[in-house]
Amino acid sequence: MNFDTLNPQPLANLTDNDAAATQFLRERCWPQRAPDCPRCGGAKLYRLADRRHRCAQCRYTFSDFAGRWLSVGGLRPSEWLALLRAFANGATVQAVQERLGVVYSTAHKGVTTVRRAIAAHAADAALLLPVILAEGKSRDQAGRGLLFGVRVGAPHLRIAVVTHLNVADVLAADLGRVQRGPIVYTEGMDAYLGFCFWHHQAISRTCQTVAMWEDLRAMWTFTNTWRQRRRRISAWQYALHVKEMEFRVNHADRDRFGTLLDYVCDRIPSPNPPVPLGPAPKPLAL
Ligand SMILES: [Zn+2]
Repeated sequence: MNFDTLNPQPLANLTDNDAAATQFLRERCWPQRAPDCPRCGGAKLYRLADRRHRCAQCRYTFSDFAGRWLSVGGLRPSEWLALLRAFANGATVQAVQERLGVVYSTAHKGVTTVRRAIAAHAADAALLLPVILAEGKSRDQAGRGLLFGVRVGAPHLRIAVVTHLNVADVLAADLGRVQRGPIVYTEGMDAYLGFCFWHHQAISRTCQTVAMWEDLRAMWTFTNTWRQRRRRISAWQYALHVKEMEFRVNHADRDRFGTLLDYVCDRIPSPNPPVPLGPAPKPLAL
């Protein structure tokens, strides 16, 4: 089934029909081929009475979406499609909760899973793995010290982890800077138009605005929403928000749903060795 044929009425049917939604997501996970084993890649599988699969090679038993973002959060396939549609349209967690008829924590976990899947598909995903894979208490530390630099080049805006500078370098430089709670925005230098990062201490020599960030304010409505609600934001949440905003800026409304669908149908990355730090990037062609 092609997504293009799904909008809007056929998709509405899928969000109310678990069997159809399951089949749709299966086809999206394994386009034009049969499922394979997430552990060994074996292609010969047995279907068990409870509809799980068992690998003939390694005997691993798994459900349809094991090892994929779809398996995180306990949502039913029809709920996943409804959530993705709402998320693609910019719905808040509360709006997602109301649309799905689930408790707030379930909606929040689903939205967070989408954000993690977005980060897992970003250009700097390898550098964000500790954030993407953080669970439980490790979330308290994940994302601390990450410096995000903004570069603009047709057709993309990039807000990505900087590796050749750190937060201390940026704070030591004479750059215009704004602090909102634990979030700091600064002017740019070198190839960057600006920097942003989570910082747990009050910084000195702040100013009211930084022109570059003022220009981007419309894209950062989440920051204003968060401030209005006076909610605490952790470094981990902030890093995921940054990647969400990068995604929203670079994907027009009409293609967000299909892209998000591919992201959550994809496999969760496995931890890798640290990526070696590279040289400073060259400016993007404008
Ligand atoms: Zn196997």
